[in-house]
Amino acid sequence: MTSAVDTETLIADNQQLRAELQDLLQQAHINQSIIERHQAFDLKLIGASEFRELIDAMLSTMPGVFNLETVTLSLIDDDYAIQRILRDLQIGLNEFPNLLFLKRPIHFPDEGGRALAQEKPRLGEYATALHQPLFPGYQPVSVAVLPLVRQHRLLGYLALGSAYRERFTRTLATDFIQRLATVAAICLENVINNERLKHIGLTDPLTGVNNRRYIEQRMHEEVARGQRERSALSCLFIDIDHFKRVNDQYGHQSGDDVLREVAARIKKELRLSDALGRFGGEEFVVLLTHATREDAARIAERIRAGISSRGIMIEGSRDPLKITASIGTASLMPPDRSRTAEEVKQAMLKAADQALYQAKESGRNRVVLSAAY
Ligand code: GH3
Ligand code: MG
Ligand code: MG
Repeated sequence: MTSAVDTETLIADNQQLRAELQDLLQQAHINQSIIERHQAFDLKLIGASEFRELIDAMLSTMPGVFNLETVTLSLIDDDYAIQRILRDLQIGLNEFPNLLFLKRPIHFPDEGGRALAQEKPRLGEYATALHQPLFPGYQPVSVAVLPLVRQHRLLGYLALGSAYRERFTRTLATDFIQRLATVAAICLENVINNERLKHIGLTDPLTGVNNRRYIEQRMHEEVARGQRERSALSCLFIDIDHFKRVNDQYGHQSGDDVLREVAARIKKELRLSDALGRFGGEEFVVLLTHATREDAARIAERIRAGISSRGIMIEGSRDPLKITASIGTASLMPPDRSRTAEEVKQAMLKAADQALYQAKESGRNRVVLSAAY
């Protein structure tokens, strides 16, 4: 026989169990949603094929997904190779204040007598002396520093910062964080390699400036933009004078040196938003965005003077070689909207080429503005 007390106890126990089950279920739901958010984030990282997309996922999406006050990514870029690619991709560094560049790896000291491998995640309290380079904009209370390593090569660090001391402690299990570091490193290497390939495909190997393919493509885009925004656009055709003589007299190698130096001198006169490409042998094309006919004339003259002002040192000649160039310019103020961008682009190129021809005809080492544009 069951007594009334036993029944009450049973009911109470039962309610207690239900409550616990409810708690567990709720916890499971929370865990499930955390796992789902993390998985969605993993997919976002893995799915990123371009640098901007990946950086955006790491720096903008990650703090929300992981409940962090700040996330920074520091890349080791001692030879500026990555920064150069970003510049060419027109990714402004002010776009991502939490994307940082380091000249060398950070050396982390051993912790409490334990020698930790440099590639292991480091969790613990924020220490100014050690962590400040990774958190220039915000000082967290506890941090996790994830070295991003691929094939024993350190690419950089993903640094997570929290305002709470208990968030990252030295004793916290790091499996999850280690996994995140591995995924992030693979994605980063993949994206950098992709961007590098694209960069190579658009670069002239001799001079390091853009190649014809790039400049034609870019010109098309800028003409279309000029049509949309009704903004001015100019283009310069630059051709080295009597370049054949340099090759004939001093050899192809010296000719190449001259090409490299001329490219560098042209580049020095340009803004980041302008584009320079080697169009063919000793011909360069410059695209000046938001530049009127007068702007183009001024910049072309500066480039002409920059090339001719000092001689160029080459092998096989004791004295620097005097080099000059002729320049033709064409300007669209703004580009004609009644024709296609491609037609307008071709017309602009033709006009600049004709102006260049006139500069050659009228004695070289001069700038001629197109009569038509
Ligand atoms: P002009 O003042 O009329 O422009 O005379 P030019 O001698 O510069 O013009 P021309 O077009 O007759 O000669 C261009 C020369 O550029 C011929 C070619 O051998 C040389 N050239 C083309 N590409 C390269 C290159 O990549 N390296 C070197 N060293 N020379 C090149
Ligand atoms: Mg030529
Ligand atoms: Mg020439």
